[in-house]
Amino acid sequence: TKSDIGSPKRTKDIIQRHGFSLKKSLGQNFLIDQNILNKIVTAAELDKTKGALEIGPGIGALTERLSKTAGKVVAVEIDQRLIPILSEVLEPYENVQVVHGDVLKVDLKSLLEENYGGLTGVSVVANLPYYITTPIVMRFLEEKLPLENIVIMIQKEVAERMAAKPGGKEYGSLSIAVQYYCEPEMVTVVPHTVFIPQPNVDSAVIRLKIRQEPAVQVKDEAFFFEVIKASFAQRRKTLYNNLASRFYDKNTKPKLEGLLLSIGIEPSRRGETLSLDEYAALSDALYTELK
Ligand code: SAM
Repeated sequence: TKSDIGSPKRTKDIIQRHGFSLKKSLGQNFLIDQNILNKIVTAAELDKTKGALEIGPGIGALTERLSKTAGKVVAVEIDQRLIPILSEVLEPYENVQVVHGDVLKVDLKSLLEENYGGLTGVSVVANLPYYITTPIVMRFLEEKLPLENIVIMIQKEVAERMAAKPGGKEYGSLSIAVQYYCEPEMVTVVPHTVFIPQPNVDSAVIRLKIRQEPAVQVKDEAFFFEVIKASFAQRRKTLYNNLASRFYDKNTKPKLEGLLLSIGIEPSRRGETLSLDEYAALSDALYTELK
């Protein structure tokens, strides 16, 4: 409704009344569109038995929506100036807790253990600060936090890389890392006009449904990611050349061709054409040979 925080009028009122100046360096672009807020919350598949963890509540537009749908909302905000504003505007909502902190530094494991008692699952829901999208998402995934969905508004180009299939130029180590842990699904592309102020990049909402088990089983997870990194080190080089310069020397190099052929991978292919299954087979074969 018109009196919701995420309406243009109410947002302008709150910003003005508190004399708040938005900081570009913190990625402060606030949502002022009910339709987009609804789409984000719907994509998170929440109900009163579920919890939501929000990163960067701003002045609380999404937080308010989440509090009406979820059983509990915890929102982590880095900007000290927003804390008193949030406590005022979110005062009516008893199931909301605002935490002042940097999402890259707070102890997320304890935060999850301590705040969602009695609920059956927690999802991350956020309009992320774009300058740290990848570190935030990778932190949630690599720490293997017990989450159901990650529904985030991010730069459209980053969303496309997360969801990319093998073969295209968007497909790279980010696609593989995300798809190893999650099933990505584009929710919607978002016009600039839904924010104050308008960002100068295109945006999209993506849902990452966390897998119970990683998409592929590998002998050594750290090595698997090392192989992927090496395979994309120089995009114009063949897989053979990238792997040879990372894992072999002049004398051992001839063995690489046979190894690749033995798992059905043409040495002349490029890293961007390999599927997750092929990377798993490749990493296991290299691991057996080199470690
Ligand atoms: N959720 C609000 C909305 O949709 O209108 C605001 C979203 S705004 C794109 C990003 C928010 O993240 C800002 O409030 C910003 O201060 C906050 N933020 C930036 N860096 C952060 C960090 N490292 N940890 C926690 N919050 C951060």
